[in-house]
Amino acid sequence: MNYDLIVLGGGPAGLAAAVAARGRGKSALVIGNRWQDSPLAKAEKIDNYLGLAGMTGYELLEAFQRHAEGAGVEFVVGRATSLMTFNGFAVTVGSDVWQGRALVLSPGVVRTAKFPGEEAFLGRGVSYCATCDGMLYRGKDVVVVGRTSDAPEEAKYLQSIGCRVTYTAPKRPEGLSDDIPFIAAGKVEIKGEGTVSAAVLDGNEVPCACVFILRASLAPTDLLPLLETENGYIKVTRDMATSVPGVYACGDCTGAPLQVAKAVGEGHVAGLSACEYLDRQSK
Ligand SMILES: Cc1cc2nc3c(=O)[nH]c(=O)nc-3n(C[C@H](O)[C@H](O)[C@H](O)COP(=O)(O)OP(=O)(O)OC[C@H]3O[C@@H](n4cnc5c(N)ncnc54)[C@H](O)[C@@H]3O)c2cc1C
Repeated sequence: MNYDLIVLGGGPAGLAAAVAARGRGKSALVIGNRWQDSPLAKAEKIDNYLGLAGMTGYELLEAFQRHAEGAGVEFVVGRATSLMTFNGFAVTVGSDVWQGRALVLSPGVVRTAKFPGEEAFLGRGVSYCATCDGMLYRGKDVVVVGRTSDAPEEAKYLQSIGCRVTYTAPKRPEGLSDDIPFIAAGKVEIKGEGTVSAAVLDGNEVPCACVFILRASLAPTDLLPLLETENGYIKVTRDMATSVPGVYACGDCTGAPLQVAKAVGEGHVAGLSACEYLDRQSK
């Protein structure tokens, strides 16, 4: 389905952007992980959000979510694994593709460091998307580094299309199929020459042609390499426009202060700016 606006990331910034777009009569789809799993949901007490001091992070998020649902925002729960600038913007979640005429990026910040070798081999044996790249590795050994609740399912999908899958995580996840070999490991290193030849899991070398790294958050620049950054954050103008026409960014992904009030304010501006962009496009 085609939406006016796709918002990637359903935290305070993304929800504010989507609500602002609904206020201007645009259709808005938020693609995000379960809001209950958001980092903010773990905050015991928020004392610095105007007018609502003392709420827990969970309560505040629940209120934001209810507001967005009431405003007619639509939701897809899942991890966006690829983003294409084709006929507007196409975002992949699992095997589904969602299309939007404008895009707001609000994925927060990636809180985990990349593994050694991950950056160097990205696109040459390191992938973040089983659905997008799995077919390239049919009949080959692959390692799935599972850091999301749906990673066991993705591993099963890779096995079903003919990949020989080894799964690794610090501890065995629920739902991992018994016929997929599991290696308990926290440290991952990716090795190869030109392309990937092995994953080193807590010091044990496992030969493979691809390492699928499945994390809850991806750096926006891994999804859209054209994005300009500054000090590791997405570079934006005052109207929250990025270096890519039609793409706006807001919240923690644009830099400090990493706080709810700033995320909501930027989200509101990003949503309005995206609507102005859409109106200009329709003229
Ligand atoms: C424990 C804790 C306590 C905090 N306490 C406070 C406080 O007291 N006051 C305060 O102002 N701030 C606090 N913060 C900071 C606050 O949570 C952030 O500033 C705010 O949530 C930023 O909002 P955001 O929408 O930019 O990003 P986030 O809230 O991080 O939301 C981004 C969402 O996008 C999702 N996402 C990312 N990539 C993808 C993808 N590829 N596909 C699908 N979904 C994706 C993420 O999983 C996440 O749910 C706290 C943070 C933490 C972790």
